[in-house]
Amino acid sequence: MESQATTHQSARERPALLRLLDVTVRYAEYCALDSVSLELPLGVTTAIMGPSGCGKTTLLRCAAGLLQPHAGSVELLGVDLARAPDREVTRLRRQMGFVFQHGALWQNMTVRENLLLPLEIHRDELTPAQRRRTVERIAERFDLTHLLHLRPAQLSGGGQKLVAYVRATVLQPRVLFVDEPTTFIDTQAAEVLRSDLRRRIASGCTVVAVTHDAELTALMANRLVVLERGRVLINDRTERVVRTGEPRVHEILRDVLSEAALYDQDILTLLDAGLATDDEPVGHDDAGHDYD
Ligand code: ADP
Ligand code: MG
Repeated sequence: MESQATTHQSARERPALLRLLDVTVRYAEYCALDSVSLELPLGVTTAIMGPSGCGKTTLLRCAAGLLQPHAGSVELLGVDLARAPDREVTRLRRQMGFVFQHGALWQNMTVRENLLLPLEIHRDELTPAQRRRTVERIAERFDLTHLLHLRPAQLSGGGQKLVAYVRATVLQPRVLFVDEPTTFIDTQAAEVLRSDLRRRIASGCTVVAVTHDAELTALMANRLVVLERGRVLINDRTERVVRTGEPRVHEILRDVLSEAALYDQDILTLLDAGLATDDEPVGHDDAGHDYD
């Protein structure tokens, strides 16, 4: 079995997206992350899986600097989140998007206002008309135009999730953290989201996704991290994880992936067939430029 830290040699030679060292998070007496050390390379899409309550969301929030661990350190794109000056952390935040598990939209704002907000904060060189046009163009692409005037509570749970995804990606982040993006959304919206994630990855965005969506994982995840009870069981290239001799990893993958309602296919076969065979970083291209 692999150690908690990345052991894959070529990954080590690349710049790291993320380095967690002995990260511990407690909620009262409960230890949600238990001295986790983890390294993820830049330019490689990672899926994080594990049973409910094992610490996936907590890990993602620490990685994105949204939660300060009780012990240990988190380095994102070479920046130590606890020690760096505020200005540097803010600069880093501009390059990141985070899609929360339950959307976390501003309930007192319309969908349009929710989507405009990141542009108002971070793209003040654009005129209000340019910002509105940007939002309208993106809304059209996601088939959200008819929802722009509504408040989040007037949308379905899936609709809210899609809007949350769009809000997190409006600024074309270099790094995107997504927490169960395709759970509880309808098939068509899930498809839209998967294809957008693919396009984004092809444009050079590094995605870290907590997901139990086998299709999404097969499409995009070159790396797989499996957690159990606040510890990393394995962190390796996906094809190595699905072939590991560690029975507990297989048990967890079968459980979590079958819960995701993919009963009609052999999941490991799907993963095996669909995944890219190397975790080489993807190149940049100009696809997906949404601004004027
Ligand atoms: P996952 O995303 O894998 O389901 P989480 O990271 O959300 O797991 O939570 C890990 C554990 O910590 C769970 O047992 C959860 O109940 C607990 N937990 C999460 N957030 C809080 C909190 N704010 N207060 C108390 N316990 C929490
Ligand atoms: Mg969670």
